[in-house]
Amino acid sequence: MQYQKFLSIPIFAVFFLMGFVYYITVFIFIEDWVGLQSSAGSLNAMIFTFLASLCLFSFSAGVLTDPGYVPSSYLPDVEDSSSVSDEEPKKNGVQSKYCDKCAAYKPPRAHHCRVCRRCILRMVGCIYFSNFYDHHCLWINNCVGYCNYKAFFNLILYATIGSIHSTIIIISCACQKDWNYSGRTPLKIFYVACGAMMVALFATLGTLLGWHIYLITHNMTTIEYYEGIRATWLAKKSGLSYRHPFDLSVYKNITLVLGPNMLRWLWPASISHLKDGVSFPTSRDT
Ligand SMILES: [Zn+2]
Ligand SMILES: [Zn+2]
Repeated sequence: MQYQKFLSIPIFAVFFLMGFVYYITVFIFIEDWVGLQSSAGSLNAMIFTFLASLCLFSFSAGVLTDPGYVPSSYLPDVEDSSSVSDEEPKKNGVQSKYCDKCAAYKPPRAHHCRVCRRCILRMVGCIYFSNFYDHHCLWINNCVGYCNYKAFFNLILYATIGSIHSTIIIISCACQKDWNYSGRTPLKIFYVACGAMMVALFATLGTLLGWHIYLITHNMTTIEYYEGIRATWLAKKSGLSYRHPFDLSVYKNITLVLGPNMLRWLWPASISHLKDGVSFPTSRDT
């Protein structure tokens, strides 16, 4: 059943792009640069194949892992006596809200997805095409939430490293080529087009990676970042200051997403550190 998630045009587009980049990098540029039979060629091909496999694995994990749904038994934990009866339940300054579409309470950090038709735990939100597809990420045909955020982060990390490696190979190949001798125009156009494509891919992925490193180190989601801008503005108007409640410390924030064992940060399937995803430690707890 889960494998049906692969049946979408953007997913096919991602597979096609991965396959195309892999083919031109290994079979055209490495071959043309030093030859696949040489030690430098086979070493580069091996490293690139390893990166491509990790990309493919992280991508599949991102698509197939359920982002995290709200348990049907979920009820907000009301402990804060300052919460007035007509307000929504509040604990440690964090509000649980009611989802009209699911007709149930949703835990803090959960949001409703129109595409998934349910609330998603710790929904991250997509910065690209977010208006059209709400917060659903069309490139993995899934929401990015509590349980698959690590796989999503690993995917953009490996894809960024892979695109840097591929760009270096294309540039090295172009530099050592004797263009006066083999300077046919279609070949030059092919080199420039592939180089430009890889630079554009690297710029897009690199920006996305930088953005998610910022979010992870601040224990924030894209949605919370935008909510935070509004909260800061409102707090300033009343002469107060706003602090994101889930921001503990950089290291602690990283371990909450990638896990406590640093050696497993780079392995997307290692998610045993995740809990129920309905409650999160806040800076008020510490
Ligand atoms: Zn909902
Ligand atoms: Zn969704």
